[in-house]
Amino acid sequence: MPGELPSKTCPVCGREFNWRRKWAKDWENVRYCSERCRRNRRLAETEGAAETPRAVPSGRKRRR
Ligand SMILES: [Zn+2]
Repeated sequence: MPGELPSKTCPVCGREFNWRRKWAKDWENVRYCSERCRRNRRLAETEGAAETPRAVPSGRKRRR
């Protein structure tokens, strides 16, 4: 069909979104339907492996 806009599925909210003019130059890199989802991307990705090794303060472990 001529004139049909391409679409993608947002991995964050799972919805399909259509091409927009503001993405004209960057459509290949667009993965999220909105800025909001792009920010929520971390939440979605981190869900399973949310282990940030931050509890260990560096500098205190040097003991010979
Ligand atoms: Zn989305």
